[in-house]
Amino acid sequence: MSIVFIISAPSGSGKSTLVNELRRSVPNLKFSISYTTRPPRGSEHDGNEYFFISRPEFEEMLKRDEFLEHADVFGNYYGTAKRFLREARETGSDLLLDIDVQGAKQIKEKLPEAVSIFVLPPSRKELEQRLRRRSHAEGVEREDVIQRRLHTASKEIENYPNYDYILVNDRLEQSIDDLKAIVLAERAKRSGAAIAGDSEKILATADRCRRCNARENIDSILASFA
Ligand code: 5GP
Repeated sequence: MSIVFIISAPSGSGKSTLVNELRRSVPNLKFSISYTTRPPRGSEHDGNEYFFISRPEFEEMLKRDEFLEHADVFGNYYGTAKRFLREARETGSDLLLDIDVQGAKQIKEKLPEAVSIFVLPPSRKELEQRLRRRSHAEGVEREDVIQRRLHTASKEIENYPNYDYILVNDRLEQSIDDLKAIVLAERAKRSGAAIAGDSEKILATADRCRRCNARENIDSILASFA
């Protein structure tokens, strides 16, 4: 049975890097390419990061009930096509969804056994610095955009209690290791098969990221957003 992994994070938390690294380094994990009505950014191209479609096309897909979940994020539609789950099940691979908090909620309602991971920035200050660096690099340093993203981030963070794992993205290498450990530990748990390599360390790492064990870290981060 395929395991569905959901990963959500406020914009600027470094989620894309983590997702890309996970896709590169963990075999048998199919990435669900979402459909969106937002235009491509930078070097993005159709069928790679997203399928870029028009609003009428998206609405047609909705009518045909082709989405497992969908949401309006920052004024654009985003949706996960049902066919990705079907294909993952057919090929016996796991499925990775990079979706927002609204989508994660819908998936958990339909597939309660899905594994959800919420990526948190180390603090509000750090998130603000990252957002500023990114908008500077993109050549669009707009204060209103940064403030809106920070505001959205604090709202999204309130959803952390709905997630199974919390990953504080402080040091990239550590976060990648944590993320891989979560995937491997969940696979082992469900299949009963042994983990190749240092299984005790991997299980302990994943356990540390369980929401119930990450309380102390979360409290100080939440306080920085209050
Ligand atoms: P961006 O436009 O920056 O790539 O993504 C904006 C947000 O939309 C991110 O939080 C991303 O996780 C979320 N997102 C991407 N694809 C989907 C999707 O298919 N469904 C939902 N609900 N959110 C998505």
